[in-house]
Amino acid sequence: MNEDLLTLCQVQKIDTEIIGNEKKRAVAPQRIEEMEGEIAQTKERLAREKEVIEELEKERRKKEQELEAEKTQIKKVEAKLHEVKTNKEYQAILKETETARTENDKIEEDIIVLMEKTEEMKKDYQSALKKLTKREKEVQEEVRELEKEIKTVDNIVAKLRQQRERLLTDVNGDLKARYNVLIERRGGLAVVNAKNGTCLGCFMNIPPQLFIEVMKNSEALTCPSCNRILCYEEEE
Ligand SMILES: [Zn+2]
Repeated sequence: MNEDLLTLCQVQKIDTEIIGNEKKRAVAPQRIEEMEGEIAQTKERLAREKEVIEELEKERRKKEQELEAEKTQIKKVEAKLHEVKTNKEYQAILKETETARTENDKIEEDIIVLMEKTEEMKKDYQSALKKLTKREKEVQEEVRELEKEIKTVDNIVAKLRQQRERLLTDVNGDLKARYNVLIERRGGLAVVNAKNGTCLGCFMNIPPQLFIEVMKNSEALTCPSCNRILCYEEEE
């Protein structure tokens, strides 16, 4: 077999391996971003929930103050009862305090409803916060794993590149240039097998006369359809 052709076959195998590793590597940062986005989203949601809880508590405190003020007012009015001179006045004061009491009952009910709602939300918030902490730990662990994987793949690729460059130094300059252009333009596949008269790069038929030449593996011939370098591997 032609030395250069044999070398290019080997380099192609290395390049295919490099491409496979790079594909694998590209997935990791994406996955990291996805997980970090998920955590950020949960945090945002919880921050909004906390705001709602605080709003409800503020409202409750306001109502409690209202209630206190009303109660003081009722006491004041009731104190006047001792100084009343006429029945009409007496009835008027009674009516006034009764209305105020009914109003207070309503405020008290509102306060209870607010308290119940706040309690429920707080419970949900706390359990969500716990879940978030757990998830954050999981994500941290997974990110560490992925970063380790990235480093490993980077090391493998660096070694493969060295190997590739070493092999290519012995290849004829023009052929080497042709190979590199094909790698760029033909989806990382520059050298392909020819089998049963077909190019396994583009799956087009190779003219019989050319195929006979390709079978000799004595020089770097190219597929007339895709221009890839053809290499003949005998069937086992
Ligand atoms: Zn082809």
